[in-house]
Amino acid sequence: MTTTTAVTDQPDLADLSDLSDLDESVRADPAAHRVLTGDRPTGPLHLGHYFGSLRNRVRLQRLGVEMFLVIPDYQVITDRDIADRLAEHTENLVLDYLATGIDADRATIFTHSSVPALNQLLLPFLSLVSVAELHRNPTVKDEIAHSSQAAVNGLMLTYPVHQAADILFCKADLVPVGKDQLPHLEVARTVARRFNERYPRPDGTAVFPRPRALLGAAPLLLGTDGGKMSKSRGNSIPIGADEDTTARLLKGAKTDADRRIGYDPAGRPEVSNLLLLTALCQDRTPEEVAEEIGDGGAAALKRTATEAVNEYFRPIRARRAELAADRAHLREVLRAGSGRANAIADATLAEVREVMGSL
Ligand code: ATP
Ligand code: MG
Repeated sequence: MTTTTAVTDQPDLADLSDLSDLDESVRADPAAHRVLTGDRPTGPLHLGHYFGSLRNRVRLQRLGVEMFLVIPDYQVITDRDIADRLAEHTENLVLDYLATGIDADRATIFTHSSVPALNQLLLPFLSLVSVAELHRNPTVKDEIAHSSQAAVNGLMLTYPVHQAADILFCKADLVPVGKDQLPHLEVARTVARRFNERYPRPDGTAVFPRPRALLGAAPLLLGTDGGKMSKSRGNSIPIGADEDTTARLLKGAKTDADRRIGYDPAGRPEVSNLLLLTALCQDRTPEEVAEEIGDGGAAALKRTATEAVNEYFRPIRARRAELAADRAHLREVLRAGSGRANAIADATLAEVREVMGSL
């Protein structure tokens, strides 16, 4: 057994620079990959989820990669006292998944709290990470800044490690996420590496893969206030919003006073964000959209963005409305997913107990 892994190691940077090989390796052997990702049941999924992660999930599933979607209900109580309307939010996430193209027959969709063995992995994993590392995590710091709680609870501080358990319980190697999740992916990679070094299998092979982040086309879509679009910050445009609501929300989006519309993400983030959103919906470049609007100003930009979003999401929204009529089906999807996730988590926990020498 090696003892070279100190818990004070430097951050373990995932190789995010080049994912161009991904499609090729996935296409060549989809069964060699597994995807895990998820969304907190804190509200309806929004355009940031769609272009940041969800569209990639659907793409990977269609290529034939096995898909795990965790609804991390325990992570809701990291930044609030109780999980408000938990069952409703959970069912609505399933609805958003199915409406955007996730195939429930081939995906495993489950809640955190329904898979005890997954949560038990948290205990050995916590021993692999130092308190200083937990305090340094920039995403945790940001979420603490936006939290409604007076004091930071232990679950908040340790939730990147919990997320490592979410990813590693099913040995996922691909994690389609937004940019805010990159520090957490580093934690998952660090936990996997340290666990593998500390507890190798008798034949020297590793128990866990090193998961990779897969950034979407909009790794950080901004909300109507110019900050990260988030379910719980009152700045989001839900995937399932109706056309009038979408128009109203986009009309209220923050922009700037320069009538000449141009794509400059660093200098003009809000205008560029609307250009990117429009471009993604119309399969064009943001520069082309900017050129077309020219001197039309923010009002023309918002009208164009509204039409593009409503057009793109029309079939998804129609399907969502159909699926929403059958709540029992949504619960059945979760029940089946939980069964599959439990079987896999039990097997992984048994393996972990064995390499740790538990009786
Ligand atoms: P909350 O406000 O409850 O934290 P959220 O909107 O941040 O909600 P999460 O459930 O925390 O959503 O994140 C789910 C996934 O969606 C993560 O992979 C995250 O990186 C991605 N994501 C969330 N917001 C955005 C965004 N604005 N742009 C791109 N990706 C995003
Ligand atoms: Mg979040």
